[in-house]
Parts: sequence; C-alpha cells; structure tokens
Amino acid sequence: MRILVTGAAGFLGSHLSRYLLGKGHSVIGIDNFITGSIDNIQDLFKKEGFEFQKYDVTNHLHVPGKLDAVLHFASPASPIDYLKFPIPTLKVGALGTHKALGLAKAKNAIFMIASTSEVYGDPLINPQHEGYWGNVNPIGPRGVYDEAKRFAEAMTMAYHRYHKMQVRLLRIFNTYGPNMRLNDGRAVPNFMTQALKGKPITVYGDGTQTRSLCYVSDLIEGIYRLLISKENNPVNIGNPHEISLLELAETIKRLAGSRSKIVFRPLPEDDPKVRRPDITRARKILKWQPKVDLEEGLKKTISYFKARV
Ligand code: UDP
Repeated sequence: MRILVTGAAGFLGSHLSRYLLGKGHSVIGIDNFITGSIDNIQDLFKKEGFEFQKYDVTNHLHVPGKLDAVLHFASPASPIDYLKFPIPTLKVGALGTHKALGLAKAKNAIFMIASTSEVYGDPLINPQHEGYWGNVNPIGPRGVYDEAKRFAEAMTMAYHRYHKMQVRLLRIFNTYGPNMRLNDGRAVPNFMTQALKGKPITVYGDGTQTRSLCYVSDLIEGIYRLLISKENNPVNIGNPHEISLLELAETIKRLAGSRSKIVFRPLPEDDPKVRRPDITRARKILKWQPKVDLEEGLKKTISYFKARV
C-alpha cells in the first residue's frame, strides 16, 4: 500500500510510519512540527519508500499519485499542549480531518482517524465500551481536544455513510514508550524525567485517579490490525490494566532506582477520575490484545529517557 500519515514526526506517527515501512508499504509522512520532532523520524529517511513533507494538514492537501490509505494522526495530544495550542488543536481535529477525508475520498483510499479515549470525557462508567457516549465539558480546557476528536469522528462517519467510504475509527487510550518528548507534560514522561533527575515526582490531586497504560508496540500492532480489517465502527485500542497515578509514580520511582520524593499538586480542571478500555471488540474483531506488561514497558521507556535527561 501507499499510505499517507499525518503527524508522522509525532510519538505515535513515527512508530506507525516505521512499522508500515517494515511491512513493505510506502509512507508519505506529513508534519508541521508543532509538537512532533525530526529526531523521531531521522532513521526513516534512509529507508526505501519513505517520503516526507513539512506541511500543516489544516490547509488543502495535494498529493500526486495513488494512495491506498490516509491515516490522520496529526494533533497535539498532551493536556499541557491543549492549553498552549488550543486553536491549532481544534483546527487539526476539525479542518485537518476534513482535508484528510477529502484527500482519501479523491484517491478512493481507506481513511483512519486517530481518535481517543477523551471522547468519553470524565466517564460515568468504567471500563468504557464503544457504545458509551461520554461525559465531556465542551467549554473546559480539555474541550478543545475532546470536541475536536468528537467532531472528527462525526465527520468520518458522515463520509462513510454519505460517500460510502471505508473508514477506521481508532479510540486510543493512554500510551507510552520511546519517542515521547521529555517535556511532553503527561504522567509517564514527567515521572520518568523527575525520577531520573532526582527531582520531586509531581502527582496531581491525591493520586487516586486511574489510567490504563498501553506500551506503544502493542498499540501499533492493534492499529495495523484495524487498518487491514473491514471494521467501519469505532474500536478501543488500549491496555485494560488499570492503576492509580500514585501507584504509577511509585512504580516508576522504584524501576528508575530513584530517591525522588513524591509530592502532590492540584488536580487540573476536568481531569478524568477513571479510565480503562473495554477491549472486547478489539479482541473479537481484530484478534488483538496487548502483550507487554507494565513493568516491562516502563523499563524499556526508562532506558530511552535515561539516555536523554
Ligand atoms: N498527572 C500527574 N502528574 C503529572 C502529570 C500528570 O499526576 O506530572 C496525572 C494527571 O492529572 C492525570 C494522569 O496523570 O490524572 C494522566 O495524565 P496525562 O497527562 O498523562 O494524560 P491524560 O490521561 O489526562 O490525558
């Protein structure tokens, strides 16, 4: 396949592009580098079948030649980035999705949207299954991301229903691994950087809020299975192993061999209290489930951070 990946220099986009090239596909990567980094894709330029353009996907997209799939992964994805780039976050989810869908339609290509567990907001049920409509504050600080992704899903389904396009709606839960920015602001990179530098580990709130963390290689495998499936309805991809943030901080501290103190800071507004994917559909439709356990994944990620702090 010849595949366009938006956000190719980001955390997930770079892993996905590398995986697709490894499977023998050609990849055209696009990124505007507002949160992505050229370091993440430096090795890909040497690989056959990789092309790259620095471009903002909210503008009209022109790609010569055939395309078999358009994978729309461009977006800030960390809560501190939503605050820093609220309007680009809304634009890439709304206008960027529209442009990427239009391109996929013109090329008769499969369209995949990288959606998110944030469509469930601060969920009133746990775990979250795909039939749950969510509990989102549209005007809160996270609304720029949540609503952009909800709009992106609505538009993707409209193109599926009206234009009969093949679409893939991937709801990604918390993911971690190499290529996350050290200053990304999310829990795993923050805790690792702090633990490795011997600085205080900042747990927000009382640390009883939960997340369920998926190692990046598992996530990418799930994404690929969804791409080559025939499933046009949303599928959760994530790891159902749920832990509290305090437990995560303690685990990272232990695995990093750190003597940092754990300190408590105010909980950001609208921070979801629980999050855990119901992956029944992924198990059934994609025959997929995560393989890497938390400690194994955290150790690999700590090695990556260790080389960079
Ligand atoms: N968090 C924390 N300390 C940090 C960064 C994040 O306790 O230094 C908490 C955050 O409040 C949330 C959880 O970790 O409850 C996961 O946050 P993250 O930013 O990783 O992603 P989210 O799942 O909220 O999108």
